[in-house]
Amino acid sequence: MSVTDELVAANESFAASFSGGGLPGPPSRHVAVVACMDARLDVYRALGLRDGEAHVLRNAGGVVTDDVLRSLTISQRKLATTEIVLIHHTKCGMATFDDDAFVAELESSAGERPAWAPGAFADTEQDVRESLAAVRACAFLTHTDAVRGFVYDVDSGALTEVT
Ligand code: ZN
Repeated sequence: MSVTDELVAANESFAASFSGGGLPGPPSRHVAVVACMDARLDVYRALGLRDGEAHVLRNAGGVVTDDVLRSLTISQRKLATTEIVLIHHTKCGMATFDDDAFVAELESSAGERPAWAPGAFADTEQDVRESLAAVRACAFLTHTDAVRGFVYDVDSGALTEVT
């Protein structure tokens, strides 16, 4: 039995007692969260979010890529969100390698360079600041006044705001 098989089985139990249907698509708390994909960070529990309340966008590092800006633009313009929360975290895997070496490794094994930048960073707080600036500079967003960034401590569960 693969892990995927286990997940499908877990879903059968989940769906059997599911009672959360009928929610509207636009997030009821009008907020979008951009966070790292780290397995130790449960965005919903850490922020007290429930189904239907927020958009949660995740990738390696919680990096503000073009695709994150695409999703935030749709979130704000088509689904009425007005606030953005950025979350990086302590002990992030993105601080364990550097872009140039990783791209060289990919080129060596795959025979081509990726079209994307890996986005590794050595300084988590500085990367939050750069992410905040990238969001605030996005011309397609209609709400860039309420954008805040945080570092989540994977050992204490606490958020620290980056100003
Ligand atoms: Zn991470």
